[in-house]
Amino acid sequence: MIKFRNIKGTHDLLPDQVAIWRQVENIIHLIMEQNGFGEIRTPVFENTDLFIRGIGTDTDIVSKEMYSWTDQGNNLLTLRPELTAPVARAYIQHQLSNKNPMHRLYYLDTLFRRERPQKGRQRQFHQFGAEAIGSPNPEQDAEIIAIAYNTFQKFKIQDMTVNLNSIGSPEIRIKYLKLLRSSLVKVQSKLCFTCQNRIEKNALRLFDCKNSNCQTLLDQNAPLIFDEISDSDYLHFDIVKRILNEVGIPFSHNKKLVRGLDYYSHTTFEITSKSLGAQDALCGGGRYNSLIEQLGGKHTPAVGFAAGLERLILALEKNQFPEKSPDIYFIHLGEDATIIASKIANDIRIEHGKVVIFEVLRRSLKAQMREAGRSKAKTVLILGDDELKKNKIIIKNMQSGEQKEIEISKLDQYFNNISN
Ligand code: AMP
Repeated sequence: MIKFRNIKGTHDLLPDQVAIWRQVENIIHLIMEQNGFGEIRTPVFENTDLFIRGIGTDTDIVSKEMYSWTDQGNNLLTLRPELTAPVARAYIQHQLSNKNPMHRLYYLDTLFRRERPQKGRQRQFHQFGAEAIGSPNPEQDAEIIAIAYNTFQKFKIQDMTVNLNSIGSPEIRIKYLKLLRSSLVKVQSKLCFTCQNRIEKNALRLFDCKNSNCQTLLDQNAPLIFDEISDSDYLHFDIVKRILNEVGIPFSHNKKLVRGLDYYSHTTFEITSKSLGAQDALCGGGRYNSLIEQLGGKHTPAVGFAAGLERLILALEKNQFPEKSPDIYFIHLGEDATIIASKIANDIRIEHGKVVIFEVLRRSLKAQMREAGRSKAKTVLILGDDELKKNKIIIKNMQSGEQKEIEISKLDQYFNNISN
């Protein structure tokens, strides 16, 4: 017999875990709303070309990590590997710029990347993120960083570092890339194969390389883009830093932090936590003033971040989310009692909004009591045929141990009293 298992790099979330996820998600929704961001939900799959244009062919995501297929109508489709391009597509398609000069959008959704699975790195995973579309100003960059940072603070994430940099405006890029290439020519053959190829195609991405030898060669030879940015880029960065200082968000300026895609400019940032181990990135973000234009829209400045939900859940202390227990465990014995108990349980759920666990295994009284204790229910209701004959029901308070018998017809009044 074949034993089916979930696909490598995907996870089942069982009810105990989902209970934590739901609480985490609720807090994220609340924080986003407090900042004036509205949730956007886009389809799980899009035209492959959106990601090729939006992310770029020379990225790991597009070159080797996308789940793509051709459907029966010969359309080339891809399960979304990120959400900034789909959000930008929706922004253009629904002509949101005509409705308001400023749009604050957020998402919390599922993504797919065919990466090598390991702790904190899956093939199906979730991100929450915010995209502020419309403002070119540094206060918007700082607000985006603050939203990400405050979210992690709210979950008491330990050992956080905010890495911050500016890669300046696109105008300085051509001059800088020339400088970078010429300084790396002499060590080109010592770089890894991918970096050797990247020198011509997208040299900025060399800084994203995980190979320590490449990083050492860069440290020794490469000029840094931050040292080439213009006065106005510098002023933009300075205001971001001043706001973060004022707000009390600690950061370190990491001049090697670049986001090596064409559409990024000015601020780049990443938040890491040592508590995560090897995959230490909680989130990454930055300004992307050219993306919307690149996807066929008008030139529109934008800045955003994307954070891994699994990483956040790995890093947080689970005990900040107390387990939820039911209000009532309903014990019943005997056929007639079971039928009436079914009705009472239904009424209590509908009319009093209580969480009621109803016994359905027809266990002995002792076994049902044991199960009621295990469920940590606050109250136990007991209805046997003997009680039913007297039109009564037993109520046991599981905290005090106190037990009393009341008329079934007075149950409504009982629950009305305890909820007042
Ligand atoms: P990126 O979209 O690659 O900039 O990633 C943003 C954030 O998403 C990262 O900082 C991680 O927290 C998370 N992330 C990225 N890739 C994965 C993955 N394969 N599995 C789990 N989380 C991921």
